[in-house]
Amino acid sequence: MYKQQIDAYIDSKKEEMLADLSALVAINSVRGEAAPGKPYGEGPAKVLDAMLSLMQRYGLAVTDYDHYAVTGDFGEGEKELDILAHLDVVPVTEDWTVTAPFTPLVKDGRIYGRGTSDDKGPAVAALYAIRAVKELGIPLKKSVRLICGSDEECGSSDLEYYYGKEQEAPCTFTPDADFPLINLEKARLAKPFTCEVPAGSGAGVASFMSGDKVNVVPGKAQLTLRGVDVSTAGAAAKEAQETTGAAFSVTENPADGTVSILVKGTAAHAATPQEGNSALTAAMTFVSALVERGILAHDPAALAFARLNRIFPHGDTCGKAAGIAMEDEVSGALTQNLGIVHYDSRDGKLTGQYDMRAPLCANDENLTAVIDRCLKDAGFTPEEGNMKPAHYVPADSAFVQTLLGSYERYFGKKGRPLYTGGGTYVHELERGVAFGCMVEGVDNHMHGDDEFMEIDTLLISAKIFADVIVKLCG
Ligand SMILES: [Zn+2]
Repeated sequence: MYKQQIDAYIDSKKEEMLADLSALVAINSVRGEAAPGKPYGEGPAKVLDAMLSLMQRYGLAVTDYDHYAVTGDFGEGEKELDILAHLDVVPVTEDWTVTAPFTPLVKDGRIYGRGTSDDKGPAVAALYAIRAVKELGIPLKKSVRLICGSDEECGSSDLEYYYGKEQEAPCTFTPDADFPLINLEKARLAKPFTCEVPAGSGAGVASFMSGDKVNVVPGKAQLTLRGVDVSTAGAAAKEAQETTGAAFSVTENPADGTVSILVKGTAAHAATPQEGNSALTAAMTFVSALVERGILAHDPAALAFARLNRIFPHGDTCGKAAGIAMEDEVSGALTQNLGIVHYDSRDGKLTGQYDMRAPLCANDENLTAVIDRCLKDAGFTPEEGNMKPAHYVPADSAFVQTLLGSYERYFGKKGRPLYTGGGTYVHELERGVAFGCMVEGVDNHMHGDDEFMEIDTLLISAKIFADVIVKLCG
């Protein structure tokens, strides 16, 4: 019943909203060196102060949680809803063309600048949603709180601090992901494993290095072979290049007679490994081919790589070979990424680490035990440890249905809940979901060059959030 008033109010505040957002974007809030009272450095503290003043100016009751987070409350009565946004940003990338990252610019229906979409724009949309409800005098029975943190991009220790002092609200949403809504984050199993490799003599793998972060599909692998001539290695590399699609380059080291192979694939996030092309598994394909041909058939290291390759063959991003492929309707298919493998013949130790994102149907019996067994049977020692369960707020809960209803009301289309293999800001909350502000089909260049927010999306988000506040707290 308040829709028209809310819509008119938000539309009338467009310029003010853009000015407030610009002021926040102009503050470089990349995490810096900690200082007394500034746990994440100057920038994050400054942006929290700026938000606190805005909240105060619009009549919210504010609290500063020691520069980890700031909050603004509105409404009498018990707290019903927390809206959780963040004001820190990722470091700037190199090739901005429209404007400089901290010089916000309104152009062609968009506002450009670092943080406009992740997550300062959504934070301002939430602030204006509360402001609308307040200034329109819409009566609330319960209260709403906007929480702005400043460490989402570097591990969310801001929330650890905040929730060390405060209770989780009955309902929480974070406008730090996608519309319509994400109510499910897959389970995660990410474990290291090792293998002692006896020293080989003769032709063999001298070193193998690929990957440094387990949650990234390795874009590069570097290996060195001894006792293999450059033409043999070159021919095998050419074949591996054809079968894997990765780029191989082979160079001879005249000083010690070894041959170096550089493999280049395509990096991707471990939650979406199918979007990358692993240089690591491509390199293992190459080593396995040399084993099969008898060239490295007697080298313990090469044989270890061949066994590992059977568990994690190139292109198998869903765990078929390991016997852990599974999927369900709510949460999609399991994904796997062998993120790190390091080996040096001088210390005789192979170490690796994988990262699986698993659907709701996964558990420690059908996943952890199976992959552990697989690795043990192949001579590897997996570290102890269990799966981190999925985060899930049921789609048929009243809270999720309310949010989807507001989405549908404004977008005029059916809103189906989404799942993600990645984590969101509400990962640790029992009753938290991600809600907005990215819309399907628009690439906001989050974390990249020329990040922007569409102004229409900013406005519609503020209206939707106000609609939600009225429904949940009214
Ligand atoms: Zn974010």
